[in-house]
Amino acid sequence: MAYVNRTNAESGVNLLALRSHNAALVLDLLRTAGEGGISRLELAERTGLTPQAVSKITARLRADGLVAEAGRRASTGGKPRTVLRLVPEAGHAVGLHLDRDEMTVVLCDLTGAVVAERRVPLDLGAGADAVVESAAGEVEALLARAGVSVLGAGVALPGPLDHSRGVLHRVTGFPEWDGFPLRDALAGRLGVPVVVDKDTNAAALGIAVVGRESGIGKTGDVAPGPLESFAYLHLGTGLGAGLVIGGGVHRGARTGAGEFGHQVIQLDGPPCGCGNRGCIEALCLAAVDRGAVGEAARVLGVGAANLVGLLDIDLVLLGGRTVAAHEEAFVRGVGAVLEERARLEGVDDGAIPVRVAPGGARGVAEGAAQLLLAPLFGRGED
Ligand SMILES: [Zn+2]
Repeated sequence: MAYVNRTNAESGVNLLALRSHNAALVLDLLRTAGEGGISRLELAERTGLTPQAVSKITARLRADGLVAEAGRRASTGGKPRTVLRLVPEAGHAVGLHLDRDEMTVVLCDLTGAVVAERRVPLDLGAGADAVVESAAGEVEALLARAGVSVLGAGVALPGPLDHSRGVLHRVTGFPEWDGFPLRDALAGRLGVPVVVDKDTNAAALGIAVVGRESGIGKTGDVAPGPLESFAYLHLGTGLGAGLVIGGGVHRGARTGAGEFGHQVIQLDGPPCGCGNRGCIEALCLAAVDRGAVGEAARVLGVGAANLVGLLDIDLVLLGGRTVAAHEEAFVRGVGAVLEERARLEGVDDGAIPVRVAPGGARGVAEGAAQLLLAPLFGRGED
């Protein structure tokens, strides 16, 4: 707590007060314009707001230190236009990834870029008090080193959980977490706002927000426009999915969507930690344990094909530690199942693509920081 610099908290307060729809539109255009910046006239053209409204909003953003002049740009005929850019260091958020056996903490600036990072071992079964204390200690240590205040902290961990209330359910393998109010416990300990979500949703959110700039898309690696619909399948110590539909994370009515790993695909299959038998997670992890990565990839592919058939998404992205250890085998194996399904269905333009998710080992933690950052830019909600 002592490390949170309260004297510099004003920018955070202003940022949270700025959450009007029009300001978010303008901020998002400034964010995606990058260092090159964008003029007020372009902002007006692209938002549909009047130049007067844009001037009013940008004046306020400049007064708050969120936006700065980035020089002048020649314009056809008239006088050179002043170009504005986002000030990335005007605000920061923490992203915390609590996995079953390790914790990753990142500090991100307004653009989502990681400016500091820590990774330490964690026992998610060590009890709520110990885990909260350990997580808070890591966050404080990171903030002390960076010397900044933050908008808040996003926390991502295995589900199921209640995102809107920040309360955990029976995390597979760790039923003792059921009912624990993680959001309020951490917010009380850190003294900043906290948002809790599943690891899969956080990773999917991070990709949805920055994916446009990274140029990931169905049609190839050249800037394809925003990522509108995709599934992020996370195979690490468990298996889950983050679903992005219409540009936002689809969490469902009770924020329980994406429990991909516990769909039963073999009625008389091996027991799973969730209490059922033959879950895709149990089959997949058992195959990996046996060294049968090709079989694990086929099992994952069957689940991915079910999802593609149900939701008609554009792209399947694979992430998580187990995928990272065998990237090529998983991309090939899952892709083969999707191709076979597309062939059986007679789809004209072929199977939807399968790729390794961007972000690597810290993709979940980066996405967790976006739980705080994305709403400032009007992004990520479905
Ligand atoms: Zn299960």
